[in-house]
This record gives sequence, C-alpha cells and structure tokens, in this order.
Amino acid sequence: MVPRRFEYLSPRTVGEALAMLKQHGDQAKILAGGMSLIPVMKLRLASPSFLIDIGRISELDYLTEAGNSILIGALTNHHEIEISPVIRKRLPILAETASWIGDPQVRNRGTIGGSLTHSDPSGDWGAAMLAVRGEMRITGEGERVVKADDFFLDTFTSAVTPTELLREIIVPIPGPNSGGAYTKLERKAGDFATAAVAAQVTIDQKGACTYAGIGLTALGPTNIRAKRAEDALLGKSMTERVIEDAAAAASEDAQPMSDPLRGSAEYRKKMAGVFTGRALRLAMDRARGGA
Ligand code: FAD
Repeated sequence: MVPRRFEYLSPRTVGEALAMLKQHGDQAKILAGGMSLIPVMKLRLASPSFLIDIGRISELDYLTEAGNSILIGALTNHHEIEISPVIRKRLPILAETASWIGDPQVRNRGTIGGSLTHSDPSGDWGAAMLAVRGEMRITGEGERVVKADDFFLDTFTSAVTPTELLREIIVPIPGPNSGGAYTKLERKAGDFATAAVAAQVTIDQKGACTYAGIGLTALGPTNIRAKRAEDALLGKSMTERVIEDAAAAASEDAQPMSDPLRGSAEYRKKMAGVFTGRALRLAMDRARGGA
C-alpha cells in the first residue's frame, strides 16, 4: 500500500514545529520514528496533508539525570534508553522495558515520545510509565505536565492534542531498596504483547512494601494501572502469599479483549495474574539487591 500524497516539512526547532502545527492544525501530523505512523498511513487509516518530521530537532533528543528525576527527551529512541548507563543504574526497569520492544530496527528508529503519544494499549512504555509514576511535559500554546495516570485517555488517544508536542518524559528516581521488572508474554520474538506487566517496588528495612507501582500492557482499552494489586502489597511483607494475592488482584484489574491472534479475554486475564506474580518476584529480588 502507498500513502496518499503529503507535503513533508522538516523543522529544526521546537518553536518551528509548533508554528507549523498551529498553521496546519489537524491537517498535519508529527513524524518521529515513523514506526507506527508510516504503517497507518500506508493502510490509509491516516492521511495527513502535512507531515512535520521532528527527527532533526536535536533539542528533543537527550537523556539526563537532574536532581531526583530522570529527564528523557521525546525523541530518544528505545535503543538509547535500553543501553543508557544512567537508566541502567537509576531505573533499570526502563532498560528492561525497552529491550522487549519489537526488534533492533524498531528499537533504533522508534521513539519513547512517539510510542506514548500513539497510545496503543499494546505499547510497552505506557505500563512502565504507570508503574514508575512518570510524567509527560507537553508543549503547545503554553506548557503543562500530565501524570501518566491522566495521559492515556482512550485506545490510540493520549492527552496530547493535535496542536501540541510531547516534549519530555520525567521519571522520579526511586529511593534505596527499590527494584523493578518488566515481564512480557509474546507469541514470537519481537511481537506486541499478549500480556505484559511492569512492576516497581520499594521495601523498608523490615521487608515491608512502602511503594508499589504496577502497569499492564495489552490488558485493557489503554495501558492500565493495577491499583487493587498495588493496594494488596502496600504496608505488607512481600511473602509468596502476599504476591499471590496481588497477582490475583491484577488479574481482576485487567480488562482484556479477545483477540484471534493472541488469545481469549479469559486466557489473557489469567496471564495478567501469572505475569504480575513473575514481575513482582523479580522486582522484590532486585529491591533486596539480588538478581
Ligand atoms: P511515529 O510512528 O513517528 O508516530 C506515532 C504517533 O505519535 C503519530 O500519531 C505521531 O504524530 C505522534 N507523535 C510522535 N512523536 C510525537 C511527539 N513528540 N509529540 C506529539 N506527537 C508525536 N511497540 C511496542 O511498544 N512494543 C512492541 O513490541 C512493538 N513492536 C513493534 C514491531 C514492529 C514491526 C513495528 C513496526 C512497531 C512496533 N512497535 C512496538 C511500535 C514502536 O514502538 C513505535 O516506535 C512506536 O509505537 C511509535 O514511535 P515512533 O517514534 O516510531 O512514532
């Protein structure tokens, strides 16, 4: 399939990109890595008249530690996050999440900003952002910061409006005795998730859970936060029994649909529990300084 004709625009600054968005409104689309947008255009599910390629805006491509946060420019690609020493040291769950996305070609082209804005419920970044309480800095007429909890409005609909740009992802650095894990069930290497779970925990000196973040992928109309599962952990010692209870709660929190390729809703709900249990055991081991 071939996309409809469009005019290609190549801004060099965020200001230029925003001016183009303002000028062309919903006739225009931002192009980042193109890993989701180009297939959609080839299928003619989207036919923008103007394509605003932000790929040459270097001020959107960075990854840095600032105070108690990690700041990630929207144009940072999945591979850069996977291999970043800052991420591996401070927020290894994000490196692990990146490693599960597609294949090396996709990871080298696709960007975290594109993935989050695309808001595919099967996208891996959304669950990780919910688990670590990430925030998105969005720029348009003004600037606003939106919590991950409020970012995923619906299937393929994020809080970024057609005249705005996702500029930066802000992630708080977890304190000591924290650990995280991203576990994913896929039909074959490089596939989108059948079910996947991001889990981030912090434990105190006595082993009680003081922070729990659990995000689900491909288990609802958007990436969703498994709040009942988090509540099942908070304040408790993370024994096998408590983890099993949290896994059962995550299964309840999940709202998957049946899919001819990836299994029935019932199967995926069950997998939500299995993969939450696996993610929590790994996260707990890592919080204790193990695996
Ligand atoms: P684009 O395709 O360029 O854009 C996507 C959408 O976001 C468009 O609507 C665009 O206008 C908008 N947009 C992009 N950047 C911005 C911005 N900064 N501000 C505002 N709007 C913006 N994803 C997974 O999570 N897991 C997988 O396992 C996975 N497997 C894949 C396998 C294949 C074969 C392919 C082709 C893709 C796969 N993906 C997977 C999707 C991949 O992660 C994409 O990189 C990602 O969904 C979109 O990022 P992008 O930079 O390519 O965005």
